[in-house]
Amino acid sequence: MPKPKCSYGGEPAAPKLASIYWAWYTVSGQRVSWKTFSCVGCAPTSLGIIFRSLRNASESPDEKHCASCGQVLDTDIDPIYVTLYLPGQERTDPEVWLDSACAAIIRSQIQSVGQRLPDRNVESRGPLTLATDPWEAIGFSLVDREN
Ligand SMILES: [Zn+2]
Ligand SMILES: [Zn+2]
Repeated sequence: MPKPKCSYGGEPAAPKLASIYWAWYTVSGQRVSWKTFSCVGCAPTSLGIIFRSLRNASESPDEKHCASCGQVLDTDIDPIYVTLYLPGQERTDPEVWLDSACAAIIRSQIQSVGQRLPDRNVESRGPLTLATDPWEAIGFSLVDREN
């Protein structure tokens, strides 16, 4: 099996790549998820939106801000749920808060470089956080290998 490459720059496999799983709900309520890999050099591109969202949340915990344009979010909230594996670090599950216009742009960027993951049951739509079972993530990578 070829080693994964950075999804953003396409460099030959760097020794340590971050794995990023992105999930969101379509307007029809379907959960879709995508996976990207990132080398450390591409982290500003791949992880910038995530870190902006985390920073917004810590700086203004009482308000939600769009991680892309910065506006305060009221009713137009269209988040992306991330599961992040940075090399040598614990898994984290940050949420990226966006308005729907910015979400559409960010999602198309993810789709242009990422790998679509198999759909899960629509019934599993529930609390606004992803399942936190690491075996599930391992399952994803095994499925990918069959392709
Ligand atoms: Zn890269
Ligand atoms: Zn925005």
